[in-house]
Amino acid sequence: MRALRRYHAVFFLGLFLFFLVVNDFRHMRGYETSLFLELDPLTALGGFLTSHTLYKGLAWSLVILLPTLFFGRFFCSWVCPLGILNQGISHFFNHRRPVDAYKLNAYRPIFRVKYYILTALLILAGMGALQTGLLDPIALLERSMIVAILPAMHGKAWDFYQHQPYFHGGILITLLVLAILLANRFLTRFWCRVLCPLGALLGVFSLRAPFRIRRDVDRCSACSRCLQFCQGGCDPHAELRVSECHLCMNCIEACPEDALHFGLAQPRSSVQQPLDLGRRRLVETGVTALALYPMLRTSRSAYSNPAPDVIRPPGSLPEADFLARCIKCAACMRVCPTNVLQPALLESGLEGLWTPILINTQGYCEHHCVLCGQVCPTAAIRPVPIAEKIGNKPYTHPIKLGTAFFDRGRCLPWAMHIPCIVCEEMCPTSPKAIWFQSVTIPGRDGKPVDLKQPFVEPARCIGCGICENKCPVVDQAAIRVTSVGETRSQRNRMILKGDIS
Ligand code: SF4
Ligand code: SF4
Repeated sequence: MRALRRYHAVFFLGLFLFFLVVNDFRHMRGYETSLFLELDPLTALGGFLTSHTLYKGLAWSLVILLPTLFFGRFFCSWVCPLGILNQGISHFFNHRRPVDAYKLNAYRPIFRVKYYILTALLILAGMGALQTGLLDPIALLERSMIVAILPAMHGKAWDFYQHQPYFHGGILITLLVLAILLANRFLTRFWCRVLCPLGALLGVFSLRAPFRIRRDVDRCSACSRCLQFCQGGCDPHAELRVSECHLCMNCIEACPEDALHFGLAQPRSSVQQPLDLGRRRLVETGVTALALYPMLRTSRSAYSNPAPDVIRPPGSLPEADFLARCIKCAACMRVCPTNVLQPALLESGLEGLWTPILINTQGYCEHHCVLCGQVCPTAAIRPVPIAEKIGNKPYTHPIKLGTAFFDRGRCLPWAMHIPCIVCEEMCPTSPKAIWFQSVTIPGRDGKPVDLKQPFVEPARCIGCGICENKCPVVDQAAIRVTSVGETRSQRNRMILKGDIS
């Protein structure tokens, strides 16, 4: 069984990495790159609680939930890429004396923390603040790989990107994943045992699983050797804590008396321990979640005035709905060919931490690209056809992300009487949203200078940001896009009457 689990784990970790590598604009060929996120029951449950809808792709999570009801937390050791990584790293790090391993692998009250984290996340989701993606292991690993690990691997040997991508504030994400991986040095599968909210959810679902590790008490000589290799901290040598068991199967192979088996519980099997949760702690967790709620609902762009720098990808839902769906997985950032999609810091409040925004100094929205909507597992970014994005028939208007504004104090023809037509040349709309007024004005020496001074026609501007990105005034462009006029918002408009956007 252990060998089978290892092959399985290698296969699923490989599949996760494969999807990550092909989730790149150069390799996208219709692969189901969101599969792991769609299989994730915590993503489905969190999204359901906040948006009151279950996006069709997330129904795949039943493929994990239903077997968990019968077989327990098989996902944690057999499918979850972060669990598999933690297991591998723990194995690599932890060659301890048996006496230390017994001590470290026994169940500890700190393992309850993950249930409290799960409770807080679900209460917050129930009230409308979706934060499951911060700690969901699939979203967390995917985000960390995309924002921290793959860019660090970019170089001569690992040329996954055309140019090394940069991600705004990626250091926080890097430190978090490093801490999670290094914690295995001190406690085997620290993340899975202590913190993982998905593990806790599956633990609750596995409580009545008829198939489980069972110990034949007549055969057991109480040597506790099983405990030395246990990855779950579920006390296989005593009364099994089935909600903690990751089904790593190490205990079965370690038992010298052949007293441990996986199967239906039998009369001579050991009994199991109930879930170790204190009612008082659960109440405290609920109160903490209530206290956190106002802090997490501080997105100005969703609930009061639209924020100029919260420019979302094409097809994004209105801001409040977007925040109710986005799990911060960064899949859209990975696939974006221009690296314009960046993890937000506090631009959209604490609630919007690590959700995607366009930062046009970094890239621009490619006119014929709709990839981000195709990979989003929760439809926070709707999958839109190219015709809808650019406003070709049967669509009457293109999708507008925002509007460009000139800063005449920095624009070369306006401020310095230096000819420049870069923004107009780059503008992808037809007719172009940037137009010129030809003027002849006296130069410093009195000689006339012919200039083309640019203007933006807001009804044509789609806010793609290429003008800002290519502006030769490189530190802070002389034309900048803000979110006003974005198609997804009825409020974020420049005028109330008449249609200019
Ligand atoms: S549609 Fe725009 S934002 Fe989305 S992936 Fe393509 S270029 Fe990036
Ligand atoms: S918008 Fe981007 S980060 Fe958010 S769920 Fe969709 S793909 Fe993931």
